[in-house]
Order: sequence, then C-alpha cells, then structure tokens
Amino acid sequence: MNRSRITFLAVCLLLLAACQQEQEQEHSASFLVFGTIVEVKLWGVSDEQSEQSFGELQQMFQGMHRDWHAWEPGRLTQINLDLATGQVATADDDIVAMLQQSQVLEQETGGRFNPAIGALIRLWGFHTSDYPIIGPAPAQTQISAILEQQPSSQDIHIDGLQLRSGNRAVQLDFGGIAKGYAVDLAIARLRELGITSAIVNAGGDLRAMGQHGKRLWRVAIRNPGGGNIGTLEVRGDEAVFTSGNYERYRQDQQTRYPHILDPRTGWPAQDIASVTVIAAEGLLADAAATALVVAGLDGWPTVARALALHKVAVVDGSGTVFLTAAMENRIQLDGEVQRVVVPVGATLLP
Ligand code: ADP
Ligand code: MG
Repeated sequence: MNRSRITFLAVCLLLLAACQQEQEQEHSASFLVFGTIVEVKLWGVSDEQSEQSFGELQQMFQGMHRDWHAWEPGRLTQINLDLATGQVATADDDIVAMLQQSQVLEQETGGRFNPAIGALIRLWGFHTSDYPIIGPAPAQTQISAILEQQPSSQDIHIDGLQLRSGNRAVQLDFGGIAKGYAVDLAIARLRELGITSAIVNAGGDLRAMGQHGKRLWRVAIRNPGGGNIGTLEVRGDEAVFTSGNYERYRQDQQTRYPHILDPRTGWPAQDIASVTVIAAEGLLADAAATALVVAGLDGWPTVARALALHKVAVVDGSGTVFLTAAMENRIQLDGEVQRVVVPVGATLLP
C-alpha cells in the first residue's frame, strides 16, 4: 500500500468516526400546537436529517392547529357552522379519518367518548386556553336543551370529503383525540423520512418508536396531586396517554368542574383523577383515556374491555392507583404510592 493510499484510508476512517459520533446523539426540537408544547427527540440521525425532519413536522403541526382547532376560526369551525345550518360541509382526509374512527369509538364506549358534543363543551366555557375558568356551572335547562337533541358522530353522513348531518345540534370537537392523531401522523412521517428511533411527546402524552441508543425511551407518568406517580419504559412503537381532571377545569367557589364531560348527563366526570393508557396508536390511547375518565371508578374496566385495552392505570381522588396486571408489569410506581391490582379475569380480557 503506498503512502497516498494510507492517507486516504486514514481520512476516510476519521470521517466515519465523526459521522458516527454525530449519529450517536439526540436531536430535539419543540413545537407549540393546540396550546401544548410538543417535544420531539430523534436518535441516530445526522444534523441535516434532523433539520429536515423538524422543518416538516413544524409545517404539519401548523396545519393541524389551523384545521382541527375547535374554536379558533379555521376548517373545523367552518364545518361546524355548515353542520349547524344544515349545509354540506367540506372536510379533508385527516378530519374524515378522525371522524370515522370516532364513530367506531363512540359506539364501542357506549357514547362515553363523543366528539359531537362541541355545543356542550362550549356551553361549559371549555373552548378556551385560559384555565381555570371562574364562575358557576351553566343552567340545567341549557344543558338539557342540548342533551335532548342527542348529538352524535353517527348523525354525520360521510361522502368522500363531504359531510352532512341530519342533526343540527352536532358540533365536532376533537379535543379528546387530536393530540393522539397528531403524534400518530408525526411518527408516521418520521418513519417515511427513514428515522427509526424517535419520541413525540405532547406534555406527557406521547408516542415513540425504536429506542434511545442502547436503552429504551423512559417517560414519567404525572401525578394528579403534583409530581409523578412513577415512570415507564416505552417498548418499541407504542403510545402512552394520560387524561385527567386536574389541569383544565371551571372553579365555582369550593366546587371544581373538570373539562371532560359525560355526554349522557352533560356534566363533568368527577370521580377519577387521572387515567393512563398504553396502546399501539396515539388516537386510540387518547380517546380511551378520555372515555375511561367518563366511565368512572366503577365502569372503567368494562369500557377497557370493550376497547380491548390491557394496560391501564387509574388514579382516584385520594391518590390510590388501580391498575391492570399488564400495566403493573410496565410501570414503576414510586415507593409510597398506594396500589390495587384489578383482577384481570373478572373484568378485563387477559
Ligand atoms: P387533555 O386534553 O387534558 O389531555 P383529553 O384528551 O381527555 O384531555 O381531552 C379533553 C378534551 O376532549 C376536552 O377539552 C374536550 O375538548 C373534549 N371532550 C370532553 N369530554 C369529551 C367526551 N366525553 N368525549 C369526547 N371528547 C370530549
Ligand atoms: Mg383524550
């Protein structure tokens, strides 16, 4: 081997080492979507690849914010205006996808998850980013007036991108699944861009794929009373979502009215402080967490079974954690947390 060849080889090895070093690090970026900070971390990519990916995600998230927002004027508010006036509304592929999945989920959860109750959510004042809201609950007569019209996602007839509703009380609000679908789309896009290890975390609601170098992605599970109840490691491609009654609510003197409503009564779901769900996809995990809060301490195992969910943890008002055996295997609860494993055979599928 002559000298110039040796030099060439040495340069190549140096370049390779630099390149490997670049790839064995984390790249991260934050985005503001639907009033939530979404943090994205990538592992094993070059600087250029991460820059390109973050640019694409920025555009995607901006589009979602514009098209799916329940009260800022955009595509969804126009759809709601059209539905309320009996006109044909024009959706896009993502809204149709969310609507179709919602129709199934509304049925499977016995109406506990219902994205057609936008009018009720507005009546309660929950179309805002400023929490807590101060003041009394709406009058029962106003709540009943909406309930009597029984708004349901099933009322919407979908024809391509065109939506029609025979029920003018239908107002779409995807607040219970938008974050879930957003993380699904973000992970799918990253995968298309050739990335195999990433986490998309919207304030504790997240989906991940691959792992963080040699270890798994590790996330904290929030405690409704403050801090965290524990941590869990995300195994490959899965989503972890938490819904609770502790962050967004209306306060009327001593009474607190959280923002998740029971579509059957029109009143907030009260007895569960938070629900954490692990599922394969963000949309299902997000909708399920919302529906299980509505199902309450007695009803959640039945609804979890209807949704074929196995990994669920529920925190009650006193901080006790009720969890399925499959979830107990996955979550590392802090030492002092009271826990009750719910017998799977009795209420949940194995
Ligand atoms: P968070 O946004 O705190 O993670 P959720 O995922 O549970 O909470 O979504 C709550 C949002 O879902 C509400 O702000 C509202 O927009 C909507 N929502 C409230 N109750 C229901 C319900 N029963 N079914 C479907 N969507 C709901
Ligand atoms: Mg949800």
